[in-house]
Amino acid sequence: MVKRNPRLAALKAGYLFPEIARRRREFAAAHPEDPARPETRIISLGVGNTTEPILPHIDAGLTEGARKLGTVEGYSGYQDEGLLELREKISGVFYPIPGKPFGADEIFISDGAKCDIGRLQLLFGAETKVAVQDPSYPVYVDGSVLTGAAGSWTGEGYSGISYLPCTAENGYFPDLSLLPENSLFYFCSPNNPTGAAAARPQLEALVAAAREKGCVIVFDAAYAEYIRDPALPKTIFSVDGARECAIEVNSFSKPAGFTGVRLGWTVVPKELRYSGGESVNADWSRVMGTIFNGASNIAQEGALAALSGTGLEEIRRLCDFYLGNAELIRHALTKLGISCVGGDNSPYVWARFPGRDSWEVFAEILEKCRVVTTPGAGFGPSGRSFIRFSAFGHRADVEEACRRLLKLGE
Ligand code: PLP
Repeated sequence: MVKRNPRLAALKAGYLFPEIARRRREFAAAHPEDPARPETRIISLGVGNTTEPILPHIDAGLTEGARKLGTVEGYSGYQDEGLLELREKISGVFYPIPGKPFGADEIFISDGAKCDIGRLQLLFGAETKVAVQDPSYPVYVDGSVLTGAAGSWTGEGYSGISYLPCTAENGYFPDLSLLPENSLFYFCSPNNPTGAAAARPQLEALVAAAREKGCVIVFDAAYAEYIRDPALPKTIFSVDGARECAIEVNSFSKPAGFTGVRLGWTVVPKELRYSGGESVNADWSRVMGTIFNGASNIAQEGALAALSGTGLEEIRRLCDFYLGNAELIRHALTKLGISCVGGDNSPYVWARFPGRDSWEVFAEILEKCRVVTTPGAGFGPSGRSFIRFSAFGHRADVEEACRRLLKLGE
């Protein structure tokens, strides 16, 4: 028989969200819901999955995309890096950089940011040093385990990964002196899970550190459309010098509700070079052409609709809705005297439970309130005394969850 890839065995305790789902199932089996008693229903503020319907103009774009495929004039097959019109539109809408717009050949349409994060490591290989914000979105670490760049499990983290703590003490922005030279640094802003959005001087410091140390930043901007403070940058490429040291991944999942539709993009600037001077952009084109055959044409028509004037208004409306949920959650936690950050420029609220273990707090909230959350420890060692509350939910559920959370104070 063929042997199992040992890197799969190196993945620590499975992916976080299946583990939460398992614990939820166990709890539900032991405490069955009673339809006659709505208070027994489990409500999830756990995963970052969107819940609201796609708004009408964007939805019409998807429908039109499907209709066109049934016509001779409208039919299209493989699109490789993505529809040219969509790549040009993304360049204009998200990267309005005066005098230096991105060319369509620097923007690669994909089936989502997570998938691109998984594929990106193929550019750098198993010998690459990896650094992450701690806590961070689990795919950066787990993807590194699969490509062999993570080293071995030490009990708290992986030996080949540098965890840069983002804590209340440093305002959830890492000490850049800890960034190893010549490393691949995954940086997410607005951040999942802390909800922190980096300020311009912080991103300038990040780019300066990466350039000085020969690092490549993989900047995850999946929540950029949740930024409401106009002073906060939505893209790393608004900082001078970023083209020489950064790749940006982004997605229609959270702004347009495309979590199930699947559409994202990655920007790989032509200026970005490996230590040997070779083009990263050319290699990414090669990787995508080799193991990916382009995103759904229907999804891309939906994205074109999303980037029209009406579509952008719908994106704003949808993000505002989830931000409204976040505000309710923050308010409930503050009322309980629980200190929390995030939720103002991101759909996540990061709540602090000093001295406590996050899995234990997770269990307490599930038992007392029947609300599912995400334990901070699942995002890295610095998350061990935190709980992440997700603002993705129907309004009535979030309101009910907030009422139940008050039980924590009893
Ligand atoms: N990046 C971050 C930080 C996320 O939190 C998520 C999803 O939760 C993704 C990327 C995944 O995006 P996509 O749905 O485009 O794969």
